[in-house]
Amino acid sequence: MSSTKTLADLASALLSGAVRVVDLTAPLGPNTPLIYLPPHIGKNTPPIKVHKISEYDADGPYWAWNWLELGEHSGTHFDAPRHWISGKDYPDGSTDKIPPKNFVAPVNVIDRSKEATENPDYLLTVESIQAWEKEHGEIEAGGWVLLRTDWYKRGDSSEKFLNADANGPHSPGPTAEAITYLISKGVIGWGSETVGTDAGSAAGMNPPFPAHTLMHQANRYGLASLCQLDQLPPKGAILIAAPLKFVGGTGSPVRALALAPT
Ligand code: MN
Repeated sequence: MSSTKTLADLASALLSGAVRVVDLTAPLGPNTPLIYLPPHIGKNTPPIKVHKISEYDADGPYWAWNWLELGEHSGTHFDAPRHWISGKDYPDGSTDKIPPKNFVAPVNVIDRSKEATENPDYLLTVESIQAWEKEHGEIEAGGWVLLRTDWYKRGDSSEKFLNADANGPHSPGPTAEAITYLISKGVIGWGSETVGTDAGSAAGMNPPFPAHTLMHQANRYGLASLCQLDQLPPKGAILIAAPLKFVGGTGSPVRALALAPT
């Protein structure tokens, strides 16, 4: 009974605009920045291509449709546990097997946009998370934690978005200890505005790529290339991010949305 009322209240709030729907998704197309791995590390995801099948023409007189050439980890996307070797054996670790209730969850937004603007190599530490919790409340089990850096404002310029030089990419992210701490809190996942869930410097961390290695080892998820986290409160919004139900999928582009208070 009470959940019927909760949903009726939510429906009214959505219709009246008292609850906003915030789009946390980057435009997805041939210009979307993609992660770049130096050849000695591994193969890269290919550029996104849109192939026309027909557009109200001889190939289909009344309809338009395309087919896509698209890596699973393109644009605003979801990382499933199976993406990483540390999470490869979970029976519910691929995009088609993750319980759907995990796609809708409360969200904590840690704003470190000032720090990341001053220092693109900024790393979120345990101490910084604990300071945030003192101010905004504890991070709850089952919630997402997203790092706001305003990185999305770099738009679709790959050069600005990847921000690499001869020493590699310079972009913000978590320390390994920060990820371990969040897992100890029981979070459902970790998300960022950068091209991947880890910092640009994460190859040199212990373990390397901790947001991938540790989160997926714990059967938890990632979200990358999120946008408009500056539109969300520190606490109180609900995140909806569901990957396509690719059979055996390691991840998928998502339309990430948040229900947020006005
Ligand atoms: Mn990914």
